[in-house]
Amino acid sequence: MILYKQISALKAFISQNKQEGNSIGFVPTMGALHNGHISLISNCKSQNQITVCSIFVNPSQFNDPKDFEKYPVTLEKDIDMLEKNGCDVLFLPSVNEIYPNGFSNPPHYDLGYLETVLEGQYRPGHFQGVCQVVHRLLDIVQPHNLYLGQKDYQQCMVIKKLVELTKMEVQVVINPTLREADGLAMSSRNMRLSEKERQQAVRISETLLFIQQHIKPGFTGDLKQRAVQYLTAEGFKVDYVEIATAASLEIIDSWDGNTPLVALAAAYLNEVRLIDNMLLN
Ligand code: AMP
Repeated sequence: MILYKQISALKAFISQNKQEGNSIGFVPTMGALHNGHISLISNCKSQNQITVCSIFVNPSQFNDPKDFEKYPVTLEKDIDMLEKNGCDVLFLPSVNEIYPNGFSNPPHYDLGYLETVLEGQYRPGHFQGVCQVVHRLLDIVQPHNLYLGQKDYQQCMVIKKLVELTKMEVQVVINPTLREADGLAMSSRNMRLSEKERQQAVRISETLLFIQQHIKPGFTGDLKQRAVQYLTAEGFKVDYVEIATAASLEIIDSWDGNTPLVALAAAYLNEVRLIDNMLLN
């Protein structure tokens, strides 16, 4: 695996490979890698000649400074995992390399409705930061294919919108959520959970599964309410449990029995905020 810290060197490598007709696949991450990330790398490898992974903990997407400070960093292990799984290139830029003029005057991306609900509502500014960094990274890497995880359902929609707004020529590929044996969605933030919290954490995926198994046409509000009550009783501070249309993330309280739906949840276990989602039908 080649490690690049400088944009210029990475760009030279990419343009050389493009001249040779190689397709470039890109997996952006914030590090603290787990098998969910590796599933994206594997999928990318199977569809491209060159797989580029980036590790960059983007300060501009953290609405909570404490969350940024405490974001896990496991660089040596990450490099080892990427090498073992055949990643070709790791891009490991500094904050200064990505934001030479600082990141306090970001461009504004018109994300419309998407930015007003769920993560957009509970993490003000978060998706602007995500767009800022993904736009910058896509500009640098110029990949043919971009690999994202369904684990961050709304983020996938935001990045698709970003690609549309900026007219970048990149194919967005969404990969299914990888889970632990008990159903907990793999996440870098799981590393911050105590043993007891780790046991509790599985209740989120269980709750989404319950919604999946019990959703019926008609009023759905009671199912959401039960889910929030259950998670609260299990020790979570719940931001939301919502049922929304899978295509546009419109929050629904009544279901026609046909429209594809997704259930999404975000909740804190003490300091650690966890999110998950499940397609319902
Ligand atoms: P992160 O490092 O958390 O920013 O995630 C980098 C990429 O990996 C994003 O596209 C995530 O959606 C994806 N990802 C994170 N967790 C999982 C998971 N459990 N399964 C599949 N993809 C994931």
